[in-house]
Parts: sequence; C-alpha cells; structure tokens
Amino acid sequence: MKYIYMDHAATTPTNPDVLKAMLPFFSEKYGNPSSLYSIGQESRTVIEEARGKVAKFIGAKHDEIVFTSGGTESNNFALMGVAWANQKKGNHIVTSSIEHHAIINPCKFLEKRGFKVTYLPVDKYGIVDPDDVKKAITDKTILISIMHANNEIGTIEPIAEIGKVAREKEIIFHTDAVQTVGHIPVNVDELNVDLLSLSAHKFYGPKGAGALYIRKGTKIVPYLYGGDQEKRRRASTENVPGIVGLGKAIELAMQDMEEECKRLASLRNMLIEKILSEVDEVILNGHPTQRLPNNANFSFKYIEGESLILSLDMEGIACSTGSACTSSSLEPSHVLRAIGLPHEIAHGSLRFTLGRSNNEEQIDYVVEKLKKIVNKFRSMSPLYEKK
Ligand SMILES: *Cc1c(COP(=O)(O)O)cnc(C)c1O
Repeated sequence: MKYIYMDHAATTPTNPDVLKAMLPFFSEKYGNPSSLYSIGQESRTVIEEARGKVAKFIGAKHDEIVFTSGGTESNNFALMGVAWANQKKGNHIVTSSIEHHAIINPCKFLEKRGFKVTYLPVDKYGIVDPDDVKKAITDKTILISIMHANNEIGTIEPIAEIGKVAREKEIIFHTDAVQTVGHIPVNVDELNVDLLSLSAHKFYGPKGAGALYIRKGTKIVPYLYGGDQEKRRRASTENVPGIVGLGKAIELAMQDMEEECKRLASLRNMLIEKILSEVDEVILNGHPTQRLPNNANFSFKYIEGESLILSLDMEGIACSTGSACTSSSLEPSHVLRAIGLPHEIAHGSLRFTLGRSNNEEQIDYVVEKLKKIVNKFRSMSPLYEKK
C-alpha cells in the first residue's frame, strides 16, 4: 500500500543528501573537534562550515550560533540561561498560552523556583497581540518568549512587532522558530529577536541536532556545564554528524525555499477548500492567511480525532491530532483550548502538515478517504443524529 505522510510538523525524513554528508563523520572521520591532530581539525572545520550556513540562513553572525541537541534544548537553554543570568534584575517572564511544551514546561519549572510567568492569551486565530505584551511588562520582566509559528494550528505570530516592544523596554526577546526555520524566511534582525531556537529534524535534517541563536551581548549563562566547547556556551563533545547534517539541510532548504513554499501553500489551499466544501460540520483552525504554508488544522464536530487518526492510518495516511507530544494524553490540546474551542470540538481535531513528498493526487486521495471515514463515524454517533 502507498504510504502518505502528512505530519511534517512532527518530524521530516532525513534528506538522502543530508544523510550522505553525515555518514563519513561516524566511523571514518571520527576525530574529536577539540583534538589538535588532523582528523580532529577536520571535524572542527566542518562544524564551522555548518555554523556559517546556519548563520547565513537567519542573518546572524558566525559566533552567534550555538549548536544544541535540538529545539527542546535550545528552548530550555534560552529560558533557564536568561532566568539564571538575570535573577538580580527581576523574576518575571512573559510568554504565550500556545507555546510548545518545550517552553511551557520549563516555565512551569521556573515558577516553582520563584519566577513569575505571564501566559498571554491569543485571539481566535491564535495571534498574540503585541499590545498585550507591552501591558504585561513590569519592572521585573527579564525575558519575553513568543513562538514564531505555532506547531499545531500554523499561525505565524507578529514577532517583529513584539520584538520592537521588547527593544523599547530593553527586555531580552526569544522566539521558538522550530516550525519556521528551513521553511519560510527568518531573519533575526528583521524579527528584532535576541535568541532564536531551531531544530534540524523539522526541515529534513537529522533528529538530535539544533541550534540556539544568541545575539552578541545578550545576558545568558550556559545550560550545560563541562568542557570548553562552543566557546564555553554549551559543553559536551560536538555532535559532528548531526551538525554536518543540520548545515546540509539548511543549505538545501535555502536553495528552493520560495518555490517549495508556493507549492505547499497551493496544495494546502486545495486540501482546505476540498475539506470545507465536501465535509460538513467542519471548521478550519488557525489564521486564514497568517499561517505556515504547509499547515491545515480542522475540527470535525461529533467525532474523536484519535479515531480518525487510527482509521486514516489503516488507509496508509499519517496525520496528527495536534502536537505529537500531547497526542498520547486525553487532555485536549492547550492550543485549541486557548483559541476558544470547547472541549468536545477540540477533541475532533486533525492536523495535516504537508511536505516534499506530497502532491495533488495525494490530496485527492486523503480527502476521499477522510470523507468516507467521517461519514462512517457520524452515522454511528447519537450526537450527530440528534441534529
Ligand atoms: C518540534 C518542536 C520543538 C521541539 O524540538 P525538538 O528538536 O524535537 O526537541 C519545539 N518547538 C516547536 C514549535 C516544535 O515544533
């Protein structure tokens, strides 16, 4: 059976060229980048090349990129690093109520350690209002962290405007850009950010490799202590194959980002139009236009998202109920709740995130199967019948 993967926000397959670039750095060119002999220095060279590619993509300086183990570590590094470095100045952090758990849970931890966190509400499209950010700031605020684009509903936040607010008030500003880097243009100066998280496996690179952009002069302490790697900002022997893969993946993303963006947006529009017109009692979640080119998130009334996932899986279709991290729990997504969806509607939600392997024919196939499955479940639902 053909397999149709439409869950690219959860992870992407490693591009074969990325894998090819990584392979020599396991068993053949295995030198420790801190070693002075030639195979060590060879590893050092490729790390610095990769750093240059990442820096170029986001418009940063070479030394402002610190490699990490992925999006989660970059987010923890940003939050803990700024919190511990600025404790004397204040203990207040501003974030949003729709962040990834890799932001929400470190914030919860910091709250237990004496920090105060404001979780800003969002509008029905999932947008954070820069004015709300401004109003939330107190003389104790040390950090603002708002995601660039939401992983569940695809909404792109007004980061440049929020950054302006942060600049005016001289508060450190972090953005979780894990869903945007490698997909849409991201420039740290245009966005007015001081810290930015990215992760390779979300754009056809390997899992376990990411980076934190740290603007020069930002007051932050390390999250991992040990050796002198990454100019003492992140200890541990560098993940050389992972870093090489990250560099290659970002380089490949840059080559055709504009075309791929357009192609995905048109596929996504096709998926949205077909589902909204061919299935009844369905809503599109997220912003109509300010959204990631590859994201479509729907709520199907009177149905459980989990049952849809399992039935679609049997037809060879992979999609998700929201974030991969919450789909094993029974609580509906905090993001869907924050945009105001009632419990029962949030439970009937499905996220499709498109990528390089998807085409028009697959969209037709998915809509056809989904229609059948939705009708089957509804025909069994007493709630639907009562209408
Ligand atoms: C996937 C994701 C993360 C976590 O990244 P990992 O590299 O898997 O740790 C963080 N934030 C967002 C928005 C994500 O989509």
